[in-house]
Amino acid sequence: MATGRKKQGSVCRECHRVVDGEQCIICGTSNLSNDWGGYLVIIDPERSLVAKRMNIRLPGRYALKVR
Ligand SMILES: [Zn+2]
Repeated sequence: MATGRKKQGSVCRECHRVVDGEQCIICGTSNLSNDWGGYLVIIDPERSLVAKRMNIRLPGRYALKVR
């Protein structure tokens, strides 16, 4: 196991979702960024203000900031 270095995958630039593969499963886009911060786990988008503010409709892992 590697330690110290974070490797959490890429983030979709369109919806900010953390993506494991090379495509966002929500948008279907490959417009991904490796330069992101602010790990965010949305469990219940209906009740999350952050999710509403970011237009997140599906539970999952997201990034607050994507460059
Ligand atoms: Zn997306």
